[in-house]
Amino acid sequence: MADHNNLVSSTQQITKEALNKLGFDEGMYELIKEPLRFLEVRIPIRMDDGTMQTFTGYRAQHNHAVGPTKGGIRFHPDVTKEEVKALSMWMTLKCGIANLPYGGGKGGIICDPRQMSNQELERLSRAYVRAISQFVGPSSDIPAPDVYTNPQIMSWMMDEYSMINRSNAFAFITGKPLALGGSLGRNRATALGAVITIEEATKRRNISINNSRVVIQGFGNAGSFIAKILHDMGAKIVAISESYGALYDSNGLDIDHLIELKEQHGRVTHLFDDVISNKDLLKLDCDILVPAALSNQITADNANDIKANIIAEAANGPTTQEATRILNERGILLIPDVLASAGGVTVSYFEWVQNNQGYYWSEEEVNTKLRHKMVDAFNNIYDLAHDRKIDMRLAAYVIGIKRTAEASRFRGWA
Ligand code: NAD
Repeated sequence: MADHNNLVSSTQQITKEALNKLGFDEGMYELIKEPLRFLEVRIPIRMDDGTMQTFTGYRAQHNHAVGPTKGGIRFHPDVTKEEVKALSMWMTLKCGIANLPYGGGKGGIICDPRQMSNQELERLSRAYVRAISQFVGPSSDIPAPDVYTNPQIMSWMMDEYSMINRSNAFAFITGKPLALGGSLGRNRATALGAVITIEEATKRRNISINNSRVVIQGFGNAGSFIAKILHDMGAKIVAISESYGALYDSNGLDIDHLIELKEQHGRVTHLFDDVISNKDLLKLDCDILVPAALSNQITADNANDIKANIIAEAANGPTTQEATRILNERGILLIPDVLASAGGVTVSYFEWVQNNQGYYWSEEEVNTKLRHKMVDAFNNIYDLAHDRKIDMRLAAYVIGIKRTAEASRFRGWA
């Protein structure tokens, strides 16, 4: 819960600073600090045992000045209003950074999907769409998967929305399976986007990815895909970790074998005797450090011990603001979360474009278009940080909020 409050206040504080740098006044900050629209719904569901249970759901639409709002729906017991609001603002930043014609949105339902049957999840997903159906749609607000939601849940939601509107509305939601208009390349999009920003960063630092030493905290969806792509590019992944502990080998770990073990057992580090702690993992000597697990991992307490040349924040909020300042002073190149993880929403945008035009692209085409977006995004932010002598995070916020603020002003909203 503390993490959520931290996320809200730090996002608002950096956005305020970014708007100042852009020359906007307090009125613009007042407009942008909260979503324009926030919906709370109560959703009664019949459970498998015959009883009724009422769930609470949210949908936040941060700002639609530049286009429809866009963002995932998470199913989690810890979902809060504050978190959903802050994440919708984050989506505005990511869409601005990738130059997508969207504002940010986010949704969530307070529930524990691990304790629910498939039938209960289907009823909940459909009822949530019924509850918000008047406020969302392919040209107003387009949801996507997030924590504990997946292509099957997107399919039920798309089907429900289509039935209400009496036509197939593929463009209502992204992250769908291929058979229902999903996009090739969507699964790996976040990881590939992060890797493209790492490639650009290594060019600026005159490091070659081939033989570079990489440490990755987390070996889940984000971390394991990033490990695999970098490994295939010739990098030495010297350490990976899970909540149980970290595996370390200075000669490079066998990532293909670890991914096989993960597929068989769900996790990997518990299968090994020789593990190091997650605390020590962050201090390892390496070229590239990728936090891809939890928030608030790099703090004022350990920022001076980090030996990496480049940090790519694949996780949401892994570095505190104080630590960001220390890392910046130490000359470490930090690729901020809103940039490093913008690949997912970018390919979601491509999915929506393909649905709208009814013409589908090859995986190569998707990846090439993703590369263009991420390379431009990285270099715009890097150059701005360099020219204005500001840190990469503030530069990312300046670029991320610029178009929404300008469009809001032209529309006469602030
Ligand atoms: P996941 O649940 O698949 O994986 C999380 C990983 O972190 C697991 O390997 C877990 O063992 C590990 N972990 C948990 N506690 C840890 C600890 N104390 N120390 C070290 N490792 C620990 O989640 P994910 O989808 O890979 O997401 C990871 C981060 O990336 C989150 O912050 C998420 O918001 C962010 N992110 C993910 C995506 C995506 O497409 N998957 C997109 C954007 C941002």
